[in-house]
Amino acid sequence: MEILPKHPSVKGPAEMFTGDVYFDVIAKGEEPSRMRVNTVRFAPCARTAWHSHAVGQTLHVTEGVGLIQSRGGEITEIRPGETIYTPPGEWHWHGAAPDHFMTHIAMWEAPDSGPESEWGDLVTDEEYNNR
Ligand code: MN
Repeated sequence: MEILPKHPSVKGPAEMFTGDVYFDVIAKGEEPSRMRVNTVRFAPCARTAWHSHAVGQTLHVTEGVGLIQSRGGEITEIRPGETIYTPPGEWHWHGAAPDHFMTHIAMWEAPDSGPESEWGDLVTDEEYNNR
């Protein structure tokens, strides 16, 4: 076994995130593992763009208050201790509530081939505030 080196926190790029979002890579499995685990920290109002994951995604909220929405669904509040599963190919976004930070652990897997995630438009203020 080995204790892996700690990588620096990475700021989420503006094409994929609105507001201040930082992620820490916890695990990126080497073949044959396809495991991907990140801790993601969102400042109030910060959120992902619309996106989907080829093999689905599991989120586990560890701190704060967050929001999540699937395409065509309602915005739902998410809180520490809750686990949210998004199936393969389902378009969605996740982020912090307007007046709270939010941290979640994001877990997903790399597919056989092709991209792990597909990214679309940023979530507008109108979409974010529509609840
Ligand atoms: Mn996601």
